[in-house]
Amino acid sequence: MSKTIIVSNRLPLQLNIENGKVTSSPSVGGLATGLKSVHRDSNGVWIGWTGLTVEETEPQLEKDIETAVSEQQCAAVQLSQSDLEGFYYGFSNRTIWPMFHYFMEYAEFDNNFWESYKSVNQKFADVVLENLEDGDTVWVHDYQLMLLPQLIKEKRPEVSIGFFLHIPFPSYEVFRTIPWREEILNGLLGADLLGFHTYDYERHFLSSVSRILGHAVSFNSITMADRVVTVDSFPMGIDYEKFSAFAKANKEQTDKSQSELQRRLYHHQQETPDAKMILSIDRLDYTKGIANRIRAFERFLETYPDYVEKVRLVMLAVPSRSNVPQYQLLKREIDELVGRINGKFATVSWTPIWYFYRSMPFTNLIDLYTSCDVALITPIRDGMNLVAKEYVATRTDRTGVLILSEMAGAAKEMNEALLINPNNMDLIARTIKKALEMPVEEQQKRNKYMQNRLRRYNVEKWAADFMGKLQALKVNEEFIRTKKLTDKRLPQILEQYNNAQQRIFFLDYDGTLRGFVNDPSEANPDEKILNMVRRLQEQPKTDVVIISGRDSETLGEWFKDLPVTLIAEHGVLKKQVDGDWHPTEAMNTDWVPSIQPVLQTYVDRTPGTFIEEKKYSLAWHYRKADPELGAMRANELSNVIKELSSNHGLSVLSGNKVIEIKSSNVHKGKAATNHILNKNYEFIFSIGDDWTDEFMFHDLPSSAITVKVGRVNTEARFYVEKQEDVAGLLQAFIQE
Ligand code: UDP
Repeated sequence: MSKTIIVSNRLPLQLNIENGKVTSSPSVGGLATGLKSVHRDSNGVWIGWTGLTVEETEPQLEKDIETAVSEQQCAAVQLSQSDLEGFYYGFSNRTIWPMFHYFMEYAEFDNNFWESYKSVNQKFADVVLENLEDGDTVWVHDYQLMLLPQLIKEKRPEVSIGFFLHIPFPSYEVFRTIPWREEILNGLLGADLLGFHTYDYERHFLSSVSRILGHAVSFNSITMADRVVTVDSFPMGIDYEKFSAFAKANKEQTDKSQSELQRRLYHHQQETPDAKMILSIDRLDYTKGIANRIRAFERFLETYPDYVEKVRLVMLAVPSRSNVPQYQLLKREIDELVGRINGKFATVSWTPIWYFYRSMPFTNLIDLYTSCDVALITPIRDGMNLVAKEYVATRTDRTGVLILSEMAGAAKEMNEALLINPNNMDLIARTIKKALEMPVEEQQKRNKYMQNRLRRYNVEKWAADFMGKLQALKVNEEFIRTKKLTDKRLPQILEQYNNAQQRIFFLDYDGTLRGFVNDPSEANPDEKILNMVRRLQEQPKTDVVIISGRDSETLGEWFKDLPVTLIAEHGVLKKQVDGDWHPTEAMNTDWVPSIQPVLQTYVDRTPGTFIEEKKYSLAWHYRKADPELGAMRANELSNVIKELSSNHGLSVLSGNKVIEIKSSNVHKGKAATNHILNKNYEFIFSIGDDWTDEFMFHDLPSSAITVKVGRVNTEARFYVEKQEDVAGLLQAFIQE
């Protein structure tokens, strides 16, 4: 039975070694909960690091550790102390983490870190490949493993691979400064589906792919030489029922069953019933905006002194990455700030900030969430922020106000929170006041919306959505794969070819006979192409038609020495061997003077674009334009022309980085079928790469051998992977 292999840096387990005995227990993070159905409830395997380095593992315990790990349906990747330093504390946390969170000044570009990152990604790949069986699906998680999809895909191209990034993907302007940007993008593009928390991260990624690697990006898919990669956003949710159930249970506790923390919080509330508590929970990380938050709280107390002794900031900072220098500095800064502000405002009976620097057990988190009137969550940058969602989920009576930074991914789904810019101290101070004074009905109304959404799109739904999409792509991919023109299928086609009395080949030019180049005027056929076409034409009982979007002059010049039929401008003009150019239909060009100036305005506004004037059509080329601007303007232009065209009977064709405008009802399909009308071809072959060729695939008789260049959805009966494969295929029909 096929399974899903989940890969993340850390395994979702805890190893306990006591008196030489190894036991393991599952850790209950959000990710493990979301992936339960693909891991625990099916025969899935989770691959990652146990948390123990090779040096920390006593050799005699190795076997027992392996057993304990496999009991949790996991497989371990062995990492040494130096792996951890280079790959994890180094490249992951001192290069990628700051860059992807826009802290460019903290980023270190160290070649040793990079080498370690590559070699550890390879270690992960080795373990995945060992565990991989036919039909398995792989889901890779997060920024520590961005090279892994490609490392797997190279070895096992048929395997369906998903990747989810749990942190932001930065703007192209930031990403482009990373020395290893191409390698990282290529690593990620080994996946079939790439998931991000928000649409913004998705478009930043697409923009980097199109600008740095030059791949064609259309909506959310990336066309590579031999396959298509899909990109989408899936905002990660929480285990809503768990948080809400624990919060309910917390309310029903008796004095005795309460935790020490809960008793204290309760006691405090009893003593000062008017006083309010503001909650702040994060890992101690510079992205979380903790220092700004404390300063904003100071600003609040200064601006609204009536609140002195009436409001307390309960701040939990969880220790994190304490061997990275920036985190040590941050710890010192926070300690000092808390000390200074407590010193400045404290009274005999009141301390403004309660500061905990530790991690807390789950039940204590619930105590804090349920006891605090306001949650103040103000990251400078955060991929998602689950604490914000958890706070809302625990408010079972729907009271409580969430103040949330608009720089957190969660803000995209939590519009009803009070959204703030984390750098605007005055705004935060004002918003704290607003939150403290918000009427209960309004609090409940806002939380109701957010709770409904969080309940519906919980972490299980998130995982199911991602897996569902990956599965759908796999089915589609399998369908497409059935059309691959393999060596096995070729003999049958050759047999038809050999048995036929009359044979014809329709060959598209750009992207089929010739690869794309930046300047289309430099794409003339070389000797190899000309020779191949000539020899194909020389086969007995065989006609060759070059059918292209090119203008007649160019095509005529390029193929002047070959006895082939030429069809130019997507079917507008035809030149028989030894004949002249004639329109295939009664063509009308009255529209050109009114449409030409419209195109000119697009050339003026879009650097790198130009107009090609053909006999019966106009083409606007944008291959050299900025890819996003070009695509946007192309879309705009095609809408404008469609609106104008109703008077002129025009059609607008979107080719590969070109918009072509011509009279309606002329296309390659019509031209090709007209050409074979009343003739007795028993073998018809047609090959092309872009969607203008789809007309040909659609209109030719169903017995025709139609071949698409590129593995995408097509009406053609077969496909070859890439342009470079075309010569080999045509060669098969050339017999000495
Ligand atoms: N959390 C925890 N122990 C603590 C404090 C927080 O396990 O003492 C959890 C919290 O419940 C949340 C996660 O840590 O699920 C933090 O996730 P978030 O997305 O807010 O931030 P990250 O640390 O991933 O940047």
